[in-house]
Parts: sequence; C-alpha cells; structure tokens
Amino acid sequence: MVLIKAKEYPCQKKGEETMDHAAAMRWLDANRERLIQLSDFIWNAAEVGLLETKSAQAQIEMLEEEGFRIERGIAGMPTAFVAEWGQGQPVLAYLGEFDALPGLSQAPGPDKQPVKEGAPGHGCGHNLLGTAALGAAVAVKTQMEETGERGTVRYYGCPAEETLVGKVFMVRDGYFDDVDVVLDWHPGAINAARNNSSNAMNSARFTFHGRTAHAGGDPHNGRSALDAVELMNVAANYLREHIVEKARLHYVITDGGGEPNVVPDHAQVWYYVRAPQRHQVDEIYQRLCKIAEGACLMTETRYDVRLLSACYNILPNKTLTRLLHEHMLKVGPNQWNEEQLAFARRMTESFEPGQKEEALTNLRAPSELSEQLINDTILPWDEDTTPGGGSTDVGDVSWIAPTGRISVATGVVGQSGHSWQFAACSGMSIGHDGMLMASRILAGAGLELMRDADLREAARREWEERTADRPYRSPLQSDQVPPLDQLKGHH
Ligand SMILES: [Zn+2]
Repeated sequence: MVLIKAKEYPCQKKGEETMDHAAAMRWLDANRERLIQLSDFIWNAAEVGLLETKSAQAQIEMLEEEGFRIERGIAGMPTAFVAEWGQGQPVLAYLGEFDALPGLSQAPGPDKQPVKEGAPGHGCGHNLLGTAALGAAVAVKTQMEETGERGTVRYYGCPAEETLVGKVFMVRDGYFDDVDVVLDWHPGAINAARNNSSNAMNSARFTFHGRTAHAGGDPHNGRSALDAVELMNVAANYLREHIVEKARLHYVITDGGGEPNVVPDHAQVWYYVRAPQRHQVDEIYQRLCKIAEGACLMTETRYDVRLLSACYNILPNKTLTRLLHEHMLKVGPNQWNEEQLAFARRMTESFEPGQKEEALTNLRAPSELSEQLINDTILPWDEDTTPGGGSTDVGDVSWIAPTGRISVATGVVGQSGHSWQFAACSGMSIGHDGMLMASRILAGAGLELMRDADLREAARREWEERTADRPYRSPLQSDQVPPLDQLKGHH
C-alpha cells in the first residue's frame, strides 16, 4: 500500500496553524444527502453540452437558497452562469461542469447495461464535478458568514466542457478577469494532486461544396465534395509524420453526401487538432487549412471552415496544487466498504487484459496500486508537468488566473475515461463518497487562500513567471459565437 509520510510534504504555511474550518465542514456534513441528490439528479438528466438546462437550473436553485447572487445565460450560452457571494477582494473561484457524453447511458451497476440504449451518460463524472465544487463554494461562504471575513466566493457554472466550449467563451468575455485564484478537481481513479498540463486544441468543421450530377449518367459533369473530404483526410494522415510527436489529429466524416447515384455537392469532415502548446496547434491548423485548399484544387470544389472551439493547454500552479495536496492529506482518503469493494471486483472483471496496468502506468501511479480495487490512499506529490493526451477548457482559465487542480477517486482503479464503468460509478456510492471528499478538500484549501495573502501572492508570482513572455490571446475569432446551432441530433 502507498503510505503517505508527512515529512515528504513540507508545508508552506506560516502563522495561523489552526485555521477554523468548522462551520464549513459542518455545512458539508449536514448537507451530505442534499449534495448526493443534486449529483444524482444531474446524473439522471445526463444532458450534453449547451443543453444542460435541468442540470444548470438545479444548481442555480440550490445556490439561490444558499444566498448566492446568480447571473444566468452568460457569454452567449443559456446554460452558463456565475453564482457569487460576498464582497470585494480576494475573489476565489470554483469551476463546475455538468455536461454528459453522447452514447454512454449506463445503469449504476457493475455490468454494462444502458439505462436507455444510445442515450447520453455521465462517463466523465461531471455530475460529481459540478456538485462537489458547488458544495465547496457554499461551505466557504458558510464559514465566512460565521466569522465575518471579507472576500468573494464564486461558483462558475461552466457548460459544454466535453466540447471545449464553455470556459473559453466565458474567459473571452471577461468573466474571470478579476479572479485571484481558481480551484478545480476532476473525478477519476486516483487521489492525487498533480501538476499535469493538457493539450491545447482546435475543433473545426471543414465543409466542401461541389456540383451534383448523375453518378451513372454524366459523372464527368459532377465535382464531388466527398472526394475532397477523402483527399483531405489522406493528406492529413501524411501530415502526421511531420508535426511534433505529441500532436494528435482525429476526424469524423459528418456528411458524406446523400446516395451513391448522386455525385455529392456537399460533404463535411470534423477535425480535432491537439498539441502541448497553443502555438503548435495554430501552426498545424494552418497546415490543415492548406490541405483543405489542396483538396479543393484537386477536385474543383470549394470549402469553408467553421472553428467551433479552441482551447489552451493547462498551466499548472505548484503552489496551489501543493496546498490542495496538504488539504487532501488532512481530509484523508476514503475507505471503502464490502459492498463497494464487491461492486469494484465485479466491474474489474470487465476490463481488457492489461488495462489496469496500462492505466496505472499512464497515471504514473505506484505499482502497489494494482492491488487496490478502489484507491484508498493518497498518491505521493508529483511535480511532473507532462501533458496527458486530452484537452480541457480549464486550460484557458489557467492562463487568466492561477489555477490548482486535483483528482479524487470516484471509481474503480483501471477504469478508462469516458467509459460505461466511469458512468456507472458516478451514479452510485463510490462516486458520491469521492465527491464529498473533494468538497472538503476544495473548501479547506479555499478558506486558507481567502485568509492567507502571502499564499495567494506566491501562487500569483508563479503564474506570472510562467506567463511572462506568453500573454493569453483568446484562440477564438473575435466575432465567434458559441456553437449552439451545431446541436441538432444531440439529445
Ligand atoms: Zn471531464
């Protein structure tokens, strides 16, 4: 088992050794069932990005009951909101997400069984993510109210994380400009405060326009938009050899024409371009646009491109991550009961051979973890900032204000991201217990940041060093609107 020895984690704290978090923790204890109900409500609603109407509303109602002021429908998105309590500086921000993933409907049991075949499901645990962050925000407010402390606590209701939309638009429209520090977490398989970056990314649809003709009768009169899509994809696959090794390109054909006997005059391909640094994505994206142009030349078609969203890589902040790590040690890892372990044992049988080991390698987790069904320890402090393969719009927030992040175990060791296993655990007690642990850590760390100006200053200095020569420029076009018109079929 991975044991945590306190001496390995030198605390940065000065003064105020015994800070009072009692009222915050009391609120979390007293509202345990209420938070679980909110999480389960969002889990059952399972709404995909920008369509999270019920999920956003349920959160807004709880925040209003708790005395938060709400600004709804911000940054051009009906389900985006910010909830605020308090006055003046410092401003502490919690990030909440609540969108589901298409096709991942899953009952809260250990075997693969959709609630409704093909429907969305919470395969990334965002029902837990938003609820824990909300709980932390209310807990901090409760404590500040009791002690009469000054400052502002905010919960950002960020829609459409999975399509990398919400926060990028909220950042561009200035909603984070006055924030001092940001705390964030993600549900997962391990308890760890990590400094991993993520990949910057562009999401864009390339639409080709040609000329129809009878595919049997007069094909020579046709100019196929589908040919252009296929040629673009061939060239993009050659491009892979000549871009930075960590870059990733993936695509789906979203429109391949109508019937084989009509030369298609319309076709569309949707691309993601990812790389560790924002400028690398920009460069690859430019080359991809040239490839689209080349495909047009070859097929005598034309194209237009719609950038749906774009995001930055995460800028880690070791000061904040370390603070979160200390609070994780204080709260302590969840211990799991027989029922939960039996559930996990059964679920583990569904894994592919080697899946658990590979997952642990990817997480740089100690090999002892392979003996665990659900993580019941806290992983050692890890300064590594190597990006994982994925992307998140938390990246953009991290370039505007110092941002600290943790992972808390809400599922089974070895589970994949975006899987039915992840969805199942997010709707039952393993997910709930992880969520409640995350709330306590985020609340404790938040209160300490509210009270310790030196700590905030240290986080700010670190952030300034990292951003010194690289000011944030929104990767969105200045007139770009959230892709609300792209949602048909996503229910
Ligand atoms: Zn996620």
